[in-house]
Amino acid sequence: YVSEAVARNSKRAVPMPRPSLRRPNGRKPYDVLVVGAGFAGSVMAERLAREAGKRVLVADKRSHIAGNAFDHQDAAGILVHRYGPHIFHTNSDEVFRYLSRFTEWRNYEHRVLAVANGKRVPMPINRTTLNALYDAGLDDDEAAARFLAARAETVPEIRSSRDVVIAQVGTELYRTFFEGYTRKQWGLDPSELDKSVTARVPTRVNTDDRYFLDSHQAMPLHGYTHMFENMLDHENIDISLDTDFAELRDEALASHTVYTGPIDEFFGHRFGALPYRSLEFRHETLDRRRFQEAAVVNYPDPSVAYTRITEYKYLTGQVHPKTSISYEFSRAEGDPYYPIPRPENQALFKRYEALANETPDVSFLGRLGTYRYYNMDQVVGQALATFRRMALPGTTAAHP
Ligand code: FAD
Ligand code: UDP
Repeated sequence: YVSEAVARNSKRAVPMPRPSLRRPNGRKPYDVLVVGAGFAGSVMAERLAREAGKRVLVADKRSHIAGNAFDHQDAAGILVHRYGPHIFHTNSDEVFRYLSRFTEWRNYEHRVLAVANGKRVPMPINRTTLNALYDAGLDDDEAAARFLAARAETVPEIRSSRDVVIAQVGTELYRTFFEGYTRKQWGLDPSELDKSVTARVPTRVNTDDRYFLDSHQAMPLHGYTHMFENMLDHENIDISLDTDFAELRDEALASHTVYTGPIDEFFGHRFGALPYRSLEFRHETLDRRRFQEAAVVNYPDPSVAYTRITEYKYLTGQVHPKTSISYEFSRAEGDPYYPIPRPENQALFKRYEALANETPDVSFLGRLGTYRYYNMDQVVGQALATFRRMALPGTTAAHP
């Protein structure tokens, strides 16, 4: 027995249904159904198949694996990220070691410029940024620290994304770099967002212009999708693309489900819809080698419709006579990309989480399944930890 939807949509080279999966005795054809082929689902599928010997079906409603990290060659043959720039960075040796089983790496340190007062300056704000904007002549870290301390404002309790920034750099720099960008990106004022959102972007007094300081910063040498192909390439894993969980949920394909889609959708939006922020991309290929001075240029100016422009060749190191870029526009409607961190949303999520805790045959995982603004490495870490906790019979130690 194999589900019709699965047979129809399977994109594996192996023809479906494979004889080994026919179980006329009525047993379930898989041990685990994994919903979503992004980092959360693919790491779980890999561990369950390779480490625990489970038979796994991975279903994704999109027509490809790799979730939002999906990359592919565009019409000009340039490797681009369909869902916006994904830069891998982590301080976890374990996560890096685990992913290194499936890819080689290209060392890459990400740098971002922001357009402010007609200039392109380093973001996060650092000493170079201050000197460029104010002609401040700050020639050491202490001078920059004093400059910022003189602008920083006392905030009795740092709660919002506005508080975090004002307390470090004051209102003027906040307005220049954060207010407009955040309003565009989230459709909310920074004062309405949890402090954790803008706290992702630090302020520096030195001239380090790297976006991240993590101990591991690299891009998968042959792209993310290639890494995912290696991860999912196992005889115990079948993949069914273009397959929505809704098509499978009543089919009893497996005794356990790993669900990495939106948690509120799983429960039929019983308590109301959890807000997610969506994005729209305008991808372009230009007949020139270079378009901009950095991989990503941010546009905090509220009169510019997009938030940032990415030029992919910086990320991938690809040499090509043309270049491909994408403009990023934030949207209220569309595919869910970001959970929106603010107290009322967290409270609503907690109600769904309580339901999830009463649903032991389903593990909820990932950015959408646990409503957390996680980076890729955090999702991998979460999946590895979840697998370890499953303590499956017959599993040897789950060291990745
Ligand atoms: P996803 O990748 O979203 O995968 C979930 C999958 O589930 C999707 O493929 C979806 O189609 C599928 N699905 C959902 N519902 C259903 C259903 N009902 N039936 C079947 N399938 C379903 N992280 C970094 O570390 N560095 C970065 O530079 C970075 N940049 C980012 C830039 C952007 C624009 C965005 C949006 C995110 C960025 N991230 C970055 C975060 C990164 O994308 C996530 O951490 C990671 O992709 C989350 O993996 P996931 O498996 O939880 O979710
Ligand atoms: N942010 C901003 N201006 C910038 C960069 C970031 O206001 O130039 C704020 C904005 O609210 C953004 C958040 O900081 O959503 C986190 O930025 P990050 O670059 O981590 O966002 P992501 O890459 O996850 O979209």
